Amino acid sequence: MSQVREYRMLIDGAWLPAEDGAIIESVNPSDNRIWATFPSASAADVDRAVRAAHHAMYDGPWSRLTATERGKLLYRLADLLSENAGQLADVETKDTGKLPRETLSQIRYVAEYIRYFAGCADKLEGATLPIDKQEMFVMTTREQIGVVAAVIPWNSQLMLTAVKLGPALAAGNAIVIKASEHAPAPLLEFGRLCGEAGFPPGIINIVTGVGNPCGQTLTSHPLVARIAFTGGTSAARQVIRNSAENFASVSLELGGKSPIIVFDDADLDNAVNAILAGNFGASGQSCVAGSRVFIQAGVFEEVIARVAARAREIKIGDPLAEATEMGPLATKDQRDKIETVLASSVEAGAKLVTGGRRPQGVDAGFYFEPTVLVCADADTPAARTELFGPVLCAFRFDDESDVIARANDSEFGLAAGVFTRDVARAMRVMKRVRSGIVWINTYRAVSPMAPFGGFKSSGYGREAGQESLLEYTRTKTVWLNTSSGLMGDPFTMR
Ligand code: NDP
Repeated sequence: MSQVREYRMLIDGAWLPAEDGAIIESVNPSDNRIWATFPSASAADVDRAVRAAHHAMYDGPWSRLTATERGKLLYRLADLLSENAGQLADVETKDTGKLPRETLSQIRYVAEYIRYFAGCADKLEGATLPIDKQEMFVMTTREQIGVVAAVIPWNSQLMLTAVKLGPALAAGNAIVIKASEHAPAPLLEFGRLCGEAGFPPGIINIVTGVGNPCGQTLTSHPLVARIAFTGGTSAARQVIRNSAENFASVSLELGGKSPIIVFDDADLDNAVNAILAGNFGASGQSCVAGSRVFIQAGVFEEVIARVAARAREIKIGDPLAEATEMGPLATKDQRDKIETVLASSVEAGAKLVTGGRRPQGVDAGFYFEPTVLVCADADTPAARTELFGPVLCAFRFDDESDVIARANDSEFGLAAGVFTRDVARAMRVMKRVRSGIVWINTYRAVSPMAPFGGFKSSGYGREAGQESLLEYTRTKTVWLNTSSGLMGDPFTMR
């Protein structure tokens, strides 16, 4: 037990335990051993964090910084992230089981997201309006929105935090981040760097705890003005209900069941690679997993055979081993869920081409084989449920309009992949697919400049890009009377 790391949470610049001493134990998913403990925040802890943020934002030194100075602090944070990427990546690997090559490249890119928003800080402009009244000068200013509540799931925590914290702080807000109970360690290490970067106490707070009371108290808190949530649909519904308490504006980045559509004229090497990346990268634990794969009849057998052959070769094991290509799933519950849904799918008639089991020889962790299912029926449980694991459901299709209807037959609409050499067809399909992101002849590409978000049950609001910055501001309209006369009749509207 002596090697278990004890983390604390960051409230008002201090590293604190929960006021009642409650803790959560965090398990390393590669060996099922407890490796760290975290405070389990009570409602009182969360209240303290939100009040600290509110005070720091409106009354502390932060409120007197220029936008350029805020940007400089963000640049400093980005540099610290770059310098400490290796150490942060190690911690994320321990907490989530993701491969260091994934965590390291992602954290390096997180620094670029922060740099992007650092550059935006002093480019938020208002407007002067050509108003339809004599002797009035009217302008708008963009003001910070207020305390931001950021709710983060266990996967890609730093990236999902950067797309909330970056615009929030660039616009002059303070933030309270709720880390996932399953893997909060990388965020707490990140909090240490925020202190080093020189952000005033209370501007960045990080609380650790369970959905209720920690997330519940945070998202319904009367001093919270904006909620930026990433997670599943069930917690998202609760968050929307909570926002009825504080009228906070809400953005939701939720799950997906994204289609990858492969036409028979596609570059098949590229398409096969995308299917692998979209389903087995990060062990399939990605909101944009392309887990419904539609393959045109002429190339169906070939694509399935090639994907299955490569899936069988994937090296599963200790994420720290150099040769490993797929680590464990982050939690035991996830593996249990996948096994249950797979069993019912096979029972319902889906054909298991490869995978579907726990791999041999790695018994201690939460490992699962890369799995390819061929489904005839869109209602196959594995084809409807977001599994967040290395399982793809393949479907055969004949023509373009048929596949578009089938691709859209999902409650989700986060992403889609289209593989074809026919540009006109690619653009037709892009236009008719109802999803927030369409990748054509590529998959899982992201950038700080490119808005990210979904349609339908995949949520609303966008993260990254200029559009997201505005969601952390509100407009103030200023009317200036340029006449020196009286206002006129007090009983009529001007
Ligand atoms: P959950 O929805 O279970 O949890 C997300 C976060 O919400 C956690 O911090 C959780 O707390 C918290 N939470 C739970 N209940 C409440 C509540 N009542 N009020 C406020 N917060 C609450 O999702 P997972 O952690 O399992 O993450 C996986 C999901 O996230 C998938 O659906 C995935 O697709 C989605 N996701 C979406 C992305 C996107 O950008 N679109 C990116 C990555 C993931 P805790 O778990 O600590 O109890």
